[in-house]
Amino acid sequence: MADRLDRRPPQTAPEPRGFGRALLVLEKEIKEEIYDCRMCGQCILHSTGMSCPMRCPKSLRNGPCGGVMIDGSCEVLPDRPCVWVQAWEGSRRLPVWRSHMEHLNKPVDWRLQETSSWENLLSRRDRHAPAAWAAYEQRSAR
Ligand code: SF4
Repeated sequence: MADRLDRRPPQTAPEPRGFGRALLVLEKEIKEEIYDCRMCGQCILHSTGMSCPMRCPKSLRNGPCGGVMIDGSCEVLPDRPCVWVQAWEGSRRLPVWRSHMEHLNKPVDWRLQETSSWENLLSRRDRHAPAAWAAYEQRSAR
C-alpha cells in the first residue's frame, strides 16, 4: 500500500562506485549520526540552522506548517519538537549563514534521494530545478 502511495520519481543518479561510493558512505555515517540526516542528496543545513528539514514528517523545506503546537512541538509527532522551531533557534546561534534562514529553497528533487549531497554539490547535479522554479528565480533577479 505504502509503495503505491509513494509518488516520488525513481532515482536517476548512477550507482556510485570507487571514490563516489566512499564519499556516500562517509557522508551517511557522519551526517546520520550528527544531524539524523535522511540523505536527500541536496543538503540545505546551512539554511536551516543545522536542523535537517527532511526530519519534518511533511518534508517541508521552507518553514513550518500551520500546525506547530504552542509549546513548539510537531502536530504530526507531538512527542517531538518541530524541526523548524529548532531550525530558527539553531540559526540564531550560528556564527555564519544566519541570514540563509531567509532563503527560499527550491522544491526537493526526490531523484537524488540516497545519493551524496557532497558529490551532487561538486557535480552540480543538485542545481536541477523545475521549469516553473527557474522562471520564478529569473523574475526575482530582475
Ligand atoms: S538536508 Fe538532506 S543531506 Fe542535509 S542533513 Fe537533511 S537529509 Fe541530509
